[in-house]
Amino acid sequence: MRTTILPFKGFTAINLLGLLFVHPGVYLSEELMNHERIHSAQQREMLFVFFYIAYLLEWLVRLPMRGNAYRNISFEREAYANQRNLNYLESRPMYAWRRYMKRRPNSYQRKKR
Ligand SMILES: [Zn+2]
Repeated sequence: MRTTILPFKGFTAINLLGLLFVHPGVYLSEELMNHERIHSAQQREMLFVFFYIAYLLEWLVRLPMRGNAYRNISFEREAYANQRNLNYLESRPMYAWRRYMKRRPNSYQRKKR
C-alpha cells in the first residue's frame, strides 16, 4: 500500500500485520522486500500482537543504551543481517531473531526502513 501518512518520517517502509506501507515513489528493491518478508515471518511466529509488544519493549530498553536503539532491536538485526540473502527465509529457523539479542550493539547508522 502506498500512502503519504505511513510510515513516519525517516522511514522507508513499515510492515503492519503483514501489510507493507511505503511512501509513493519509494523503490521496492528485492533487498527491501526481503527485509520486510523477514519481519512478516517474525510477526507470524509471534502471533502479531506479541511481536509488537516485544519490539516496543526492546526498543524502550535499548533507548538509553549505546548505539541506535531501532537498529539494535533483535528483529531489525536479523532482518538487516539477512536481507541480502534472498533465500534466507527458506532455511530460517523459527525464532531466529533470538540469536541476535546478545550481539554487541553497533553504533553505525544506515538508512532506516
Ligand atoms: Zn526492519
